[in-house]
Amino acid sequence: MIPVRFVAACPSGHIQDVPFKEWVHNGPVPNDGEHELSYHTGGGSGDLGSITLKCTCGERRPLAGLMNIRKDGEDVFDSALARIGFNPDYDHKFDKEHPNNSNPQGQYCKGHRPWLGLEGIKDAAGCKIIY
Ligand SMILES: [Zn+2]
Ligand SMILES: [Zn+2]
Repeated sequence: MIPVRFVAACPSGHIQDVPFKEWVHNGPVPNDGEHELSYHTGGGSGDLGSITLKCTCGERRPLAGLMNIRKDGEDVFDSALARIGFNPDYDHKFDKEHPNNSNPQGQYCKGHRPWLGLEGIKDAAGCKIIY
């Protein structure tokens, strides 16, 4: 377990763990044994680009871009997490409002409200927001 200083939050205020394993593998974690992450800092500024996650399977990915979002005015309609595993071959389904809602591997908000305790996670209301 790696203690990290990031959580994922959606504009409706829901909070969940950042899907670091999916980020590193750019999609679902392969179901072929252990995939343990380690956290490597390049020193210096400590910004996202200086942090790289490495998996025991050999995959590695810096955190640069992890927080990227796209907005239309105040409305966020796309995010780096929603693009995890995005297959550009499906771009014909591109929808300006929800460009990733055809990405089955995207990591979207689960509607978790952890401040309510386990109930807020077990009974997650779901989140209408698709990114
Ligand atoms: Zn792995
Ligand atoms: Zn949400």
